[in-house]
Amino acid sequence: MRLVVFDDYEVGVVRGDAVQPITHLVPGASPGDQDNFGHLVRAWDDVRPRIDDDAAPTSPLGSVQLHAPVGRLRHLLAAPVNYAAHIEEMIEQGFVDAGAHSAEVLGFFLKAPGAISGPADEVLLPLDRYVGRRFDHEGEIAFVVGRPCYRVSADEALDYVFGYTMAADITLRGTPQRTEERVMRKSFATFAPIGPWVTTADDVELATLEVQTSVNGELRQTARARELIVGIAELVEVASHVFPLEPGDVYLTGSPEGVGPVAPGDELVLSSGQLGTMRLPIGERKAEP
Ligand code: MN
Repeated sequence: MRLVVFDDYEVGVVRGDAVQPITHLVPGASPGDQDNFGHLVRAWDDVRPRIDDDAAPTSPLGSVQLHAPVGRLRHLLAAPVNYAAHIEEMIEQGFVDAGAHSAEVLGFFLKAPGAISGPADEVLLPLDRYVGRRFDHEGEIAFVVGRPCYRVSADEALDYVFGYTMAADITLRGTPQRTEERVMRKSFATFAPIGPWVTTADDVELATLEVQTSVNGELRQTARARELIVGIAELVEVASHVFPLEPGDVYLTGSPEGVGPVAPGDELVLSSGQLGTMRLPIGERKAEP
């Protein structure tokens, strides 16, 4: 099932080219509440059986405004270098030293939830304050935590995954003279576009799950779940032994090779046979008035 957040933060199910609103089926949810998706994830076992029989009128998908399919989440986690070929390209380009560690050693980092933006929103590069710096796309598979999750082993970890989506982990690259903290470089507003929807885990085949990333029609990256150095179950095990993950938390699983710059005027597209398509215009933040 494909779940969206749309218009006044309503939650809905995508059926073909239509959206079936389900906000009224979700305990605690109401139009305008930015945590409706959180309410939905927390109540999913009760809501799910009531969706098929509900007769709410649908709207054409193209007629609604999609937001990132998240609620007021507490944690936005992300795996650093989690594909072998991406480590090599970062070494070749001088961004990390030879022998650099992967996510297997590094674990995870956090992006600020304030960086999240919707699946059709413009990505705003902060060129007003970061003149001449390089901004990169990283097109990634992401997953959503479904249940409270503390100290869970990899064996049972996938039972705690609610569903899957795509995310662009937009990044300000460091320079030899100036390397800000990773959290800051990856947390500018609009640097975490997520969407277009969350596909529930029962409808995703992990063995063949891929996300392709292109810029201006040119294929740059293909993320494949089966090529992750630290797989999704192990990412959950490691993070859940640090702090309790909560329903609705989102985890970006890492970028494959092919990372490259984006500039105002570009179109960044993330596309997946299983997860949909997200078209992101690249723009720039205007100088302060
Ligand atoms: Mn990344």
